[in-house]
Amino acid sequence: MSSPGSTIDLRSDTVTRPAAAMRRAMAEAPVGDDQYGEDPSVNLLQERIAALLGKEAALFVPSGTMANQLALKLLTRPGDDVVVGHNAHMLLHEAGAGAANSGVQFTAVGAGGAFTADDLSAALKPPGYIVLPATTLVAIENTHNMAGGIVFPQRDAVAICSAAHAAGAAGYLDGARLFNAHIAGGLSLADLAQPFDLVSVALSKGLGCPVGSVLAGDRPTIARAVTARRRFGGAMRQAGILAAAGLYALDHNLPRLAEDHANARLIAERIAACRGVRLDLATVQTNIVVWQMEDGAPAPPAIAAAAKDVGVLVSALGPRTLRAVTHLDVSAEQCRQAADRLARLLGA
Ligand SMILES: *Cc1c(COP(=O)(O)O)cnc(C)c1O
Repeated sequence: MSSPGSTIDLRSDTVTRPAAAMRRAMAEAPVGDDQYGEDPSVNLLQERIAALLGKEAALFVPSGTMANQLALKLLTRPGDDVVVGHNAHMLLHEAGAGAANSGVQFTAVGAGGAFTADDLSAALKPPGYIVLPATTLVAIENTHNMAGGIVFPQRDAVAICSAAHAAGAAGYLDGARLFNAHIAGGLSLADLAQPFDLVSVALSKGLGCPVGSVLAGDRPTIARAVTARRRFGGAMRQAGILAAAGLYALDHNLPRLAEDHANARLIAERIAACRGVRLDLATVQTNIVVWQMEDGAPAPPAIAAAAKDVGVLVSALGPRTLRAVTHLDVSAEQCRQAADRLARLLGA
């Protein structure tokens, strides 16, 4: 936790550092060789997350990117088409891994990260047509990062997955921030995960762990995921030291995500009132604030640099786009200070 007056880091919810109690839980974790299935902490974490998500089995992996890449590997074949929302993490932030690892291409549909079953149906390319790449997977992000942390409407998720299944395609939920969607929207994690064949959740975002994501699904698919994880170089040994952070976070850091959401809202309300800012407060549903600078207003890189000079770190995401993310290591008071400093900088 940074002290008052020091830099307030709102670049991402991945910047948190494990607190003393989490480190203690890690240090004291019972461990074993996970590749023999003998790490009790990993096994417990996998069982707890599978149960929370209402799935038969789960697998601890080093990153959300690896969880996404395993899903692509397990649910597609080379040459297939994967339907995603615009600016999806798999499309934009995984260094082309879907093409490199699984030989898939992507079709982005909808607007602002959300899309509907109609959007999917319009984009679906059925298998067996000689010129068309077969759509074998649809992937949803909940919450959607680049769209401002919006909670994906569950009615649409249900309809999308049922349209996908009717067409012989699978559904994947990139739930890097599913815990935020659960806390913000009130639906259980199992309800949110129910329509999907595979689901991932990240421990290293809002839950404040140093490392790790978990992929969940039915037993046969997760058994295949164990092999695929090994192929990707993501199989670990005494990983219980890391899993223990996840177990600690489920007990201590999950309910407090509501504070992050309130803090994001207070920042968003200040920024939305500033000159040259385009910020739809309806998109601020969780811990992410994404806004645009209007044409003629200062450019995001210049704003991020000026913010840094006054002790606030935000991300310039694009030529007109900025992002601030709240998390475990910034208090309400720090968020109020950050909002003051940003508002002074942007001008009322
Ligand atoms: C952060 C994130 C991931 C995975 O990130 P890693 O840094 O690989 O853990 C995947 N999807 C979304 C939507 C994310 O925000």
